[in-house]
Amino acid sequence: MLETLRHIVQEVNAAEGLGDALRIIVRRVRDAMGTEVCSVYLREPATGRYVFRATEGLNQDLVDQAGLADGEGLVGLVAVRGEPVNLENAERHPDFCLLPGIGEEQYHAFLGVPIIHQRDVLGVLVVQQSQQRRFDENDEAFLITMSAQLAGVIAHAQVAGAVQEEALAGAGAPAKISGVAGAPGIAIGTAVVVSPIADMYAVPQRKAENRRQEVRAFREALQCVAVDIQTVADNLGAELSPEDHALFDVYLGILDDSTIGAEVVGLIKAGQWAQGALSQVMIKHIRHFERMEHSYLKERAVDVKDLGTRVLAYLQEADKQELMYPDQTILIGEELTASSLGEIPREKLVGLISVRGSGNSHVAILARAMGVPTVMGAVDLPYTMLQDRELVIDGYNGAVHLNPLPQVKRRFQEVVDQDRALTRDLESLRDEPCETLDGHRMPLWANTGLMADVTRSLEQGAEGVGLYRTEVPFLLRDRFPSEEEQRQIYRNQLEAFAPKPVTMRTLDIGGDKSLPYFPIEEDNPFLGWRGIRVTLDHPEIFLAQVRAMLKANEGLGNLRIMLPMICNVSELDEALDLIHRSHREIQQEGVKGELPPIGVMVEVPAAVYQARALARRVDFMSVGSNDLTQYLLAVDRNNARVADLYHSLHPAVLQALCDVVEAGAAEGIPISICGELAGDPEGAVLLLAMGYDVLSMNATSLPKVKKALRNINLSEARELLREVMEMEQAGAIHQRMEQFLTEHGMEKFIHNPVD
Ligand code: PEP
Ligand code: MG
Repeated sequence: MLETLRHIVQEVNAAEGLGDALRIIVRRVRDAMGTEVCSVYLREPATGRYVFRATEGLNQDLVDQAGLADGEGLVGLVAVRGEPVNLENAERHPDFCLLPGIGEEQYHAFLGVPIIHQRDVLGVLVVQQSQQRRFDENDEAFLITMSAQLAGVIAHAQVAGAVQEEALAGAGAPAKISGVAGAPGIAIGTAVVVSPIADMYAVPQRKAENRRQEVRAFREALQCVAVDIQTVADNLGAELSPEDHALFDVYLGILDDSTIGAEVVGLIKAGQWAQGALSQVMIKHIRHFERMEHSYLKERAVDVKDLGTRVLAYLQEADKQELMYPDQTILIGEELTASSLGEIPREKLVGLISVRGSGNSHVAILARAMGVPTVMGAVDLPYTMLQDRELVIDGYNGAVHLNPLPQVKRRFQEVVDQDRALTRDLESLRDEPCETLDGHRMPLWANTGLMADVTRSLEQGAEGVGLYRTEVPFLLRDRFPSEEEQRQIYRNQLEAFAPKPVTMRTLDIGGDKSLPYFPIEEDNPFLGWRGIRVTLDHPEIFLAQVRAMLKANEGLGNLRIMLPMICNVSELDEALDLIHRSHREIQQEGVKGELPPIGVMVEVPAAVYQARALARRVDFMSVGSNDLTQYLLAVDRNNARVADLYHSLHPAVLQALCDVVEAGAAEGIPISICGELAGDPEGAVLLLAMGYDVLSMNATSLPKVKKALRNINLSEARELLREVMEMEQAGAIHQRMEQFLTEHGMEKFIHNPVD
């Protein structure tokens, strides 16, 4: 059964569009189950009707014509119940409803299972048989497994199909694809798809601007690959027999002008750009070989893929130099990274969409710092088809809108205008203190990483840096920066803010931050080799970094050093020893300066429970609520599928936040917070009430938080905290916080979805 399932899913995954996928499903399921009929009904979102979309065994002429209203017939019953319906004799069931002309009169046995994707019923998969019998348990289990596996593929193909149809028809129906809110704001712009290097399955579809030039580029890329392969063959020289040499010729022949090469050129001449034409033709041939039963021929798929990948790499290299970004670029990628953001001129970038990742992935945090509206985890987005398309992205609610209706677009434009007005309004607060109505001062610091954050943070009136993510400059290089290079980078940060304090966190790689030149591949990266664990295992990296920080601090004295991912006291003791050692060493080398304040991040539950023991050893502590939330709730911050469960206002998280402040107070050290919660007005109000000494956040959030805290009294925030700590559910707490903001004239900070 497993093998059959795997084959079907593989074939469906390789289908060309939804129609093809559904035809494969009904044919293969009918064969695998040995039934007479298999059909798929899919829900039409606009009407709620279940449309007869594919069949083996019933009347093909009614495909896409016939259908059942919501709740109508046995198909409707399966959908409403969200459970299988297994009947010996379908027509005896009170809900049975015969679709005229469909030809199911002679079939008695009926088994229907719902197709459910992310809690939504997409449709119903049905098998039928003329013999009066109940399908047995195995049949039921098989069909349920099949439907669960196919649901994601169907959801994806549905959206992709809609986009393709639209593209063919010129204009199309509006479509809204849900993802996860990444960075707040609305962006209206033109899509630019960034493709991963040499991945044929992620090549954006685009028209050729100059067909002749594209053909030339393709032929040149072919030539380069031919030379590469010839070089390999020559190098192996004597080790190869004449037969082996002949294999190389066959290999090269695959792409020659009379075969696959000619097909690619044909497509380019018909208007496709070279990369698109190449990938389309190669994928078709790969699928063809993969479907073959004979293992030798099946293996040829690997050769075709390898050749295609090589040619694509050359084409991408050539196109890279020519890439032009439109004025309002929305960058889309399978998995955007910090370096992909660095390649586009900032003034042209208005929005970001990442198919993978979630709201607390590091790329989303960077986007928030840059103030670029972002949607993450848009897993159903057929992104390779969106090149040059006009899109609207809603970074408040995590949605992408294709072909929005004029009134929807107008509504979004209004939100953009309101946001601009709010930003202007907030600018006037720049030099005002962050002080509550009853006179409590709350220092607001900034989180930095990119050099651009420095200017931005100063412009927004940051009173210090609560978290400088030192891994960001490491991520943007192709090797570890030397001690001297680091010293200069750190010096720039310290000088820009002096005499304001700058908290530099030692390298926090691992998790979703992997350096291209130091890859860490693990099954559970967030529970693996990460943060302080890596640097304690590589003291040479840690020492060089600390030495660079201490040297950069000479004559300024505004450095603070902070240690990430501390889980136990011995990690902290070890790290402190290394810092003291570095300090002694550089003093012996003649560098002047006191040992700076040293702090730990509290970002794993163990550190919450041991907060007092940790506090006794350091000068300050800072809560990393992004990781603390992920580890307390066991929700991967990078996984869009569980994003709904990632609640920073979860009662357990709030309790942990209170406990850390209490521990800090008991040991007499200041406690700050540098997770994203500090930059959320709802979070900031509660953190103020808990007694946090400093809130550190991305520069973009700073004015909003200042506005929120200047609008309230500490006493009422404390009252609210008491109320909220009695609540048992994150949703209720969030609602109460929205109500509180509204009551205090801050309804502009609340953004509901536009449909
Ligand atoms: C955190 O975990 O809250 C934090 C500030 O660190 P990072 O987001 O870089 O992991
Ligand atoms: Mg962290």
